[in-house]
Amino acid sequence: MPHAHDSPAVPPSRQLLLVGAGHAHLHVMSQRHRLGDIAVTLVDPGGFWYSGMANGVLGGRLSPVEDRLDPARLARRHGVRALRGRLADLDLAGRRAILADGRTLPFDLLSLNLGSRTPIPPVRHPGPRVWGIKPIPCLVALRRHLEAEFQRGADPRLVVVGGGASGVEVACNLHALARRHGGRCSITLVTRGERLLEDAPRGASRWLARLLASRGIRVITATRVTGHATGGALVRSDETLFGEDSLGLVEADHVIHAGGLVAPEVIERLGLPTLPGRGLAVEATLQSSGDRDIFAAGDCAAMVDHRLPRLGVYGVRQAPVLLGNLAARLAGQPLAAYEPQPRALAILDLGGGLGLAIRGQHWWGGRLALHWKRWLDRRFMAGYR
Ligand SMILES: Cc1cc2nc3c(=O)[nH]c(=O)nc-3n(C[C@H](O)[C@H](O)[C@H](O)COP(=O)(O)OP(=O)(O)OC[C@H]3O[C@@H](n4cnc5c(N)ncnc54)[C@H](O)[C@@H]3O)c2cc1C
Repeated sequence: MPHAHDSPAVPPSRQLLLVGAGHAHLHVMSQRHRLGDIAVTLVDPGGFWYSGMANGVLGGRLSPVEDRLDPARLARRHGVRALRGRLADLDLAGRRAILADGRTLPFDLLSLNLGSRTPIPPVRHPGPRVWGIKPIPCLVALRRHLEAEFQRGADPRLVVVGGGASGVEVACNLHALARRHGGRCSITLVTRGERLLEDAPRGASRWLARLLASRGIRVITATRVTGHATGGALVRSDETLFGEDSLGLVEADHVIHAGGLVAPEVIERLGLPTLPGRGLAVEATLQSSGDRDIFAAGDCAAMVDHRLPRLGVYGVRQAPVLLGNLAARLAGQPLAAYEPQPRALAILDLGGGLGLAIRGQHWWGGRLALHWKRWLDRRFMAGYR
C-alpha cells in the first residue's frame, strides 16, 4: 500500500485570482513561493507596459520592445497559471469573476491591480484625431502615426491637454520625435493650472517654462479643454469670465489628452464600495472596505485614509504589503497596514537627453537626472524579464 507522500499530488483546492498585471502583481507573481499551498491564476488582456519609459518610446529614444514585458512568461516561471482576458464583473455571492468573453473563474481570494485610464471628452467627426496616454500602447500608435506624417512632409498641429508631469513629458517628447525625424510640427500645451507642474517648487516650473519656450512649445494656462470640434480643441478660459468670450478653439490636427488618470470603468460595476472618481475603496491593509477576501493595489485602488497621486511608484511600494497580506489572510494571521511615503521621487523625461528630478521642495534639471531615471527604470524592468 503506498504511503500518503507517494500518492500523486492533489492540486490545491483554494484559488487566488490576480486580475491585471500591474506593478504590484508582478511582484506577487515573482514571490509566489511565499503564498504556500494555493493555486494562483493571473488574468490580463495583454503585455505589461512600463509607463516610466513610455515617453522615451514616444520621443523615439527607446524602442517599444524595451518598454514591454510579457507577464504570462513571468507567471509561468513562478508556477502561476496565466490567462488572457478582461474582468467585466464579479459574482460576489458565487465567488466568481466574470470575464468580458463570458468565462467565469472561481476565487477564494481576489486581488485587483487594473491600473487607470485617460478620460477623454466625446470625439467629433469631422474633427482632430484624439489620443489618450493610457493604455501606453496608444502612445506607441501615436508615435507611428506621426512618424508617417513627418515622412510625408506634413506639418501637424499638436495640442497636448494637461500641464502636469505627463502633459509636460508628452509635449517635450513630441518635440523630440519631430526633431529626430527632421519633421516640422507646432505644439501647444493647454493647462487649466496657473503654471506648469502646480505641485512642484516654483523654481522647477519656471525652469520648465523656459525650456518649453526655447523649444517653441506654446503654453496656454488657466484654460480647460472642454471638447473637440472641426478644426481643433474647444477651450474655455478661466481668466475671461464673460459667457461666450471665454470660449475658443485651439487649432489642432491631433489632440493628446494627458490631463489626469481615473480608475477603470469596471471598478464601478463590481458591487463593491468605491470612492467617487478615485477607485475601489480599500483599507490600510489593501482589503476592499466591503469584502475582506478582495484586495486592490495601484491606480485602481483608492485608500480610504489617504489620497495618493496616480503614480506607479505607489503600486511598487504597496506590492510587498499586498503579498504579505495575501499570505497572512490565507494563513489566518493578522494583516499589516500600508503606510504611504510622504514624498515620492519623480523624474520627468523631457526629451533631448534632459530630465527633471523632483522630490518635495528639491528639484534638479539636466542630463544627469535623465541618466538616473533610465538606470532606475531599466533596473525595475530587468527584475521581471
Ligand atoms: C505617459 C505616462 C507616464 C508616466 N510616468 C510615470 C513615471 O515616470 N513614474 C510613475 O511613478 N508613474 C508614472 N505614470 C503613472 C503610472 O502609469 C501609473 O500610476 C501606473 O501605471 C499604475 O500602475 P498599476 O500597477 O496600478 O497598473 P498598470 O501598470 O497600469 O497595470 C494595469 C494592468 O491591468 C490590466 N487591466 C486593465 N483592465 C483590466 C481588466 N478589466 N481585466 C484584466 N486586466 C486589466 C492592464 O492591461 C494592465 O496590464 C505615468 C503615466 C503615464 C500615462
